[in-house]
Amino acid sequence: MITKPRGTEDVLPKDSKLWQHIEETARGVCERFGYKEIRTPVFEDTALFQRGVGDTTDVVQKEMYTFEDKGGRSLTLKPEGTATLVRSYIENSLYANPQPTKLSYIIPCFRYEKPQSGRLREFHQFGIECFGAESPATDAEVISLAHMFLKELGLTGIQLNINSIGCAVCKKEYNEKLRNYFEGYKDRLCPTCLERLEKNPMRIIDCKSEICSEIAKTAPKMIDYLCDDCSGHFESVKERLDNMGIDYVINPDIVRGLDYYTKTVFEFVSDALGAQSTVCGGGRYSGLVEELGGKPADGIGFAAGLERLVLVIKKQQPDACSLETASDLFVATMGDEAEKFAQKLIFELRNLGVSAEQDLCGRSLKAQMKYADKLGARNSIVIGDDEIVAQTAKLKNMKTGEAVDISLHAEVLAKKLEEVR
Ligand code: ATP
Ligand code: MG
Repeated sequence: MITKPRGTEDVLPKDSKLWQHIEETARGVCERFGYKEIRTPVFEDTALFQRGVGDTTDVVQKEMYTFEDKGGRSLTLKPEGTATLVRSYIENSLYANPQPTKLSYIIPCFRYEKPQSGRLREFHQFGIECFGAESPATDAEVISLAHMFLKELGLTGIQLNINSIGCAVCKKEYNEKLRNYFEGYKDRLCPTCLERLEKNPMRIIDCKSEICSEIAKTAPKMIDYLCDDCSGHFESVKERLDNMGIDYVINPDIVRGLDYYTKTVFEFVSDALGAQSTVCGGGRYSGLVEELGGKPADGIGFAAGLERLVLVIKKQQPDACSLETASDLFVATMGDEAEKFAQKLIFELRNLGVSAEQDLCGRSLKAQMKYADKLGARNSIVIGDDEIVAQTAKLKNMKTGEAVDISLHAEVLAKKLEEVR
């Protein structure tokens, strides 16, 4: 038997309502905030991620699904959304519209990671990006959108962590301090972090290895070295969050995955998950648009992991998982003529917006009624030769057993079903 690839999941019909609910909530919130959906390819030129995510990150160094196509091009299945959106923003000249450009997406992402709860090789992200706005108001708007999304999903026990990781100016001085600090632990750092020590010491703070993260605990914190511009920006973001009544804690240890992050970074963490507790992460970045060939423009955004949200919701709202919809009507039949009559009737009813079902497996009448029960149909009718002649049948409420005479004309039946819904 062929089974699904390691680290992938099937979303079965019993769960897809919950997925649709999460996606609809995301789209609804985006609409209110003026974020427009963008759809992009599942694979991109490998160089996009090498440059756009950064070649000192775990994602690029260890996790990408990269392959050569028959034309000899190196392609990579998207590990994240930001680099792709930057590419599209430049390639489609979206910067020529009134700025900022506000975009949202829901995408599958692929990362070759060690699969565990909340960590898959194919997973899904809902995210947004805002290009061309540098104001702290933008940071606050982006964070407030994520906050509203999580709140509308009814999640509890979520904490917003924010930090500032400075700009090119203040990062330079800080990176020197950090390098000096980690130099002292050179013999204990993991091989990947040893390399990062030269290229990008801040990455070490994000390392998942136990020893590196232990060492990083007492490392100097960027937040203590912010320049005036960066600290003013951070103060303003905090003030705006306070204004909107959005609670947060300052967490100097958040540095985030991308190489290009500047100033504000943030994460929403859930207390309902184990190790994989971050349900949403994001931040501001500058330099990325330019790095990918565009005119300089700031970006800020976030991505939320949908599988992790599903885990939290299933834990906190077990009923949300049984959002299955039941049919309005089950049409049971006796004999071939009745079955054909029923199919046409059901077709007309569905055309009028009614959800209706019939048996497709040749069941006996008794078995059909049992099946209708299993389906959770709200009403049923039984059609035999007499009903076809009379053009009427008994409409039975499956819960109460109450029955009324009803015409078999689709319009009349549909209207009645609407009344008793
Ligand atoms: P983590 O620290 O958990 O590895 P990350 O920093 O790699 O997360 P991002 O690149 O910021 O994550 O992606 C944003 C969100 O996507 C995460 O907060 C998480 O909810 C989700 N996510 C990331 N990687 C995975 C994965 N392998 N499986 C499921 N969800 C994931
Ligand atoms: Mg990761």
